[in-house]
Parts: sequence; structure tokens; C-alpha cells
Amino acid sequence: MNKSTRSVMTFKNGIYPVYHGKELSEGAATRIAPLLARYTVPVAQNAGKPPEVIVKAGDKVKKYQLIARASGFVSANLHSPVSGEVKGIIEVPGATGVPAQAVEIISDGLDEALPPLPEIDWKQADPKELLDRIAACGLVGMGGASFPTHVKLSPPPEKEIDTLILNGAECEPFLTADHRLMLEDPHAVLAGAAIMSRILGIDRIFIGVEMNKIDAIEVLQEKSASYGVRIVPLKVQYPQGSEKQLINAITGRDVPAGGLPMDARCVVQNIGTAAAAADAVIRGIPLVERIVTVTGPVVKTPGNWKLRIGTPVIEAVRLAEGVTEEPGKLILGGPMMGFSQRSFDVPTAKNTSGILLLSQDQAVNYESGNCIRCGRCVQGCPMHLMPCALAAAIESGRFDIAQQNHVMDCLECGACAYVCPAKRPLVQHHRRAKAEIRRQMQKK
Ligand code: SF4
Ligand code: SF4
Repeated sequence: MNKSTRSVMTFKNGIYPVYHGKELSEGAATRIAPLLARYTVPVAQNAGKPPEVIVKAGDKVKKYQLIARASGFVSANLHSPVSGEVKGIIEVPGATGVPAQAVEIISDGLDEALPPLPEIDWKQADPKELLDRIAACGLVGMGGASFPTHVKLSPPPEKEIDTLILNGAECEPFLTADHRLMLEDPHAVLAGAAIMSRILGIDRIFIGVEMNKIDAIEVLQEKSASYGVRIVPLKVQYPQGSEKQLINAITGRDVPAGGLPMDARCVVQNIGTAAAAADAVIRGIPLVERIVTVTGPVVKTPGNWKLRIGTPVIEAVRLAEGVTEEPGKLILGGPMMGFSQRSFDVPTAKNTSGILLLSQDQAVNYESGNCIRCGRCVQGCPMHLMPCALAAAIESGRFDIAQQNHVMDCLECGACAYVCPAKRPLVQHHRRAKAEIRRQMQKK
């Protein structure tokens, strides 16, 4: 590390949200959600190709049974979170706002599970065996991106990798699911890190954790030495958990424009994904549940719950004893990068870290004004872009200029929009431009 003289590491630019909202749920120990009568398991839960559904209406399934098979290398298996009967393949509200296909399963109340896969002695096992197990258990990035984990752990041979970084920053306001996981199951996180590093054939492993989770840092530090993992305290700064910012903060390396973490010899994984890797390899169970923060100022009892994949959001809100007033906005994820939802029927997925309910006051849609050229968005952008100039180009339909000015490197982190006094819809513009540029590139 070329920044070893600094005790608390960080990256340049970014922002400091004034209210974090983590105090609502960070002290709430994870509770196991009771069995529901019905789950709607989204089929497309991974970046890449959705898996192929292999069950049909009337089929009896057990917990952990494969219900959709990966349909290519960049795809992920999907397993049933419950025993019962498949009612059908239905359309549900999708997390990104587009209707999605889901396997509807009616619980038989027995919660019968298939026997777990045999435990693998990961310290001795062939790395390929570990990788195959992770693929079989349907792991995807649980921090949000949902990239199949086995793909991320298989960099091309020409790319030299020397560092694995686990993201325990959890820099999004309100979310505390990763915090609770690090506190409550540190051995799973650390074992998962060691398993992943064995697959990659490296021994340089870091876990970056923001300093607002001192208790988690202490717990991990106490246990990390035997796993060969170093815990790195990070400054509380948004978006500290973004891959490129995390790599820069911990290693001092820059991912080149348009590049990937592997271009800085790094692989980055979320701490939840690491714990799921330990579950897959040691306990032999696929990814069918995760910790989700259910929170917000209008939630009666904010907290953290272990929810099975496919839990309708309305059921999670009921677990939190409902709301104190009519919510103004429902968001899956955090307030900065999460997705606003229209329906409480949207089901949770492998990448659902939080369910956030804002008040009507907080959900006010401010009218956008003209750019006053204050430059705050430029100072806040962690990717050193010029959000105001990009937005101006996009508004005039000049996607070519936006592309020349690296709009494709935009993380959609929302830092620019957060600080903009004119309330310019900067992220929406950048998202639109990226989609349009991708569309044009596919046509060529
Ligand atoms: S331009 Fe993109 S990367 Fe930069 S602050 Fe805005 S959303 Fe984040
Ligand atoms: S922060 Fe808003 S008003 Fe200021 S320069 Fe950027 S886009 Fe313009």
C-alpha cells in the first residue's frame, strides 16, 4: 500500500451527506423473518443472461431446489427459498421499474429443505472446485450490481490480479445490513474472503469499512489475522463503497477511464457475497436469503431482517410493524442509488440491501432550475467528470460530446445531483445518455 502513512483512507472528491439515518436501524440485531404463505422469486436476478426456468405450475419443490438454471457463463442459478408448490410463472413489478417474470411458490408450511451439498475443505481444495460450488449455489454480487460471482472470480488469464478487496463500506445512508452482518457473522465474511482469494491464487486481501462502523472494524480486526485478511478503516465519504473509489482509497491505484477493477490488478466483492461464498462452500447451501434493512422515518420499527429471496416488500414492511404515516416514497436500496418503486408487491432479490420508506416531505419533487455554474457538481464527482457540462450536451442531444467527455464512466452515484442547488436532474440525464450510447454501439 503506498498510502500506509494514513490511518484512515479515502479517495478524492465525493460528498458528505448531512443525514445518514443509520441510527434508525444499526443497533437492531438481525431477526429471522417468519415463513410466509407465498413467495414470488424474480427470475432475472443477475447481470447478464437470466437463467432458464425449469419448473412449471403444479410442480412440488423443496427449499434449496434449483428452479432456474444458468443459461450461459454470465448467468446464475436460482433456487427455491421454500418448500411448496409452484403456482405459476407470473409477472411482478420489477425492481428497476419494468415488469419482471417471477416464479410464484405457495409454501406448504413444512419448510422442507434438500440436504446441503457436502462441505468442502477450502484450505486444501482445488480452486476450480471452489469456483464450481460458488457457481452452483447461484451467487451474485449482493452489493447491488448482481454480477455473477463466479465470473468476477474468473478474470482473463492475461489480467494479472494481486489484490482482493471486500467492500464493507456501506456508504449509502440508512442501510445497515452489511454492518450487522460484519458484527454478527464475522467468521463467514472472513472465511468467504479467504475462499475467494484461494480461487484467485493471491494472498493480499483487504476489507474496507467506513469509520462509522467502529464496532464492526474491531470485531473483524480481532479475528482477521488467522484468515490472512487486513481490515482498512475508511473515511465516511460518499461513494466510498464504489469499486473504483475503494480501490483508490485502499491501494492508491486508479482504474483507467473505461476500465475495470482488474485493470488495477484488483477484484472487488461485497462482504455479503463473501459470507454467501462461505455458506456455499462450508455449509453447502445456495443463496436463498439475505439480510435486508427495512427502515425510514415513517417505518414504525426499523431494523434488519433475514428475508428469503422473493419476499414481497409489503410483507417486509409488516415485519417492521407498518408505518406511522402515509409514506411519500418507497425505495429498494439506499436513497442515493436505490430505485423508487410504485408498488409494495415488488419482491426482494439477491441484491436487495434495503427497503426504505421516506416521508411525504422528504419525497417532494423539487422543480429543476437553470444551471448557475457554481461548480459544486464538479467538486463532488468522484469520477472527476463535469456533470453540468455533460448534462448540457445531453440536453442538446449531443450524446457524442457526452461520450467524448466520459459519460460512460459515470457511476450514477447521485453525488452531483445531491449537491446541485438548482436541483438539476443530472443522474437521469447521464443514465439516459449511457443507455443511448450503448444502444448505438450495439447497432454498429
Ligand atoms: S456524474 Fe456520475 S459519477 Fe459523477 S457525481 Fe454524478 S452520478 Fe456520480
Ligand atoms: S451543481 Fe448544479 S447549478 Fe452548480 S454547476 Fe453543477 S449543474 Fe450547475
